[in-house]
Amino acid sequence: MIILYTGNGKGKTTAALGLALRNVGHGRKVAFIQFMKQSKSGESKVSLTGFELKQFGRDKLLTRDTVEQVDKELANEALDYARSVKCDLLVLDEVNVALYFGLITLEDVLKLIDEKEREGVLVVLTGRYAPDELVERADIVTEMKEVKHAFNEGVPAQEGVEW
Ligand code: ATP
Ligand code: MG
Repeated sequence: MIILYTGNGKGKTTAALGLALRNVGHGRKVAFIQFMKQSKSGESKVSLTGFELKQFGRDKLLTRDTVEQVDKELANEALDYARSVKCDLLVLDEVNVALYFGLITLEDVLKLIDEKEREGVLVVLTGRYAPDELVERADIVTEMKEVKHAFNEGVPAQEGVEW
């Protein structure tokens, strides 16, 4: 089963974290991989048996125009790790954005998903700009739609809400 969360509204990563918690409760092992990230988000500080989160990124906000070779290396490291990790739920958080930025190839992501699906792993993909091929490939696709966001009213990002 492949689940995809995309769209411009808030809730993609946190939806994946919700599934992670649900799976841990069932005694399943979760590998939660975050692309392009090196942050002190709440989820990165969680210590919970069966839940392993790894971040692959630099401590700086990446945009499409500021991509460097090291960003591609880190994103491909994330894919390597995903390939080798033994788990029941694999989350590739922001993988869609990593694809959109050209850090990794769609071919590699599709191959990884195929392998994991064969092993019976539940795979969750998140991030804006999901390519059509992944939308086609996934079994469940939800698009988070922004109706309103406090950020647009000048409210700064908050601990426990954004990170
Ligand atoms: P979350 O991690 O809260 O589930 P997300 O994964 O759906 O959010 P991202 O695109 O990864 O969203 O953005 C990370 C953070 O940026 C979010 O926590 C968040 O609140 C903020 N954010 C998300 N959508 C918007 C928006 N439309 N405008 C401003 N900030 C946003
Ligand atoms: Mg996110």
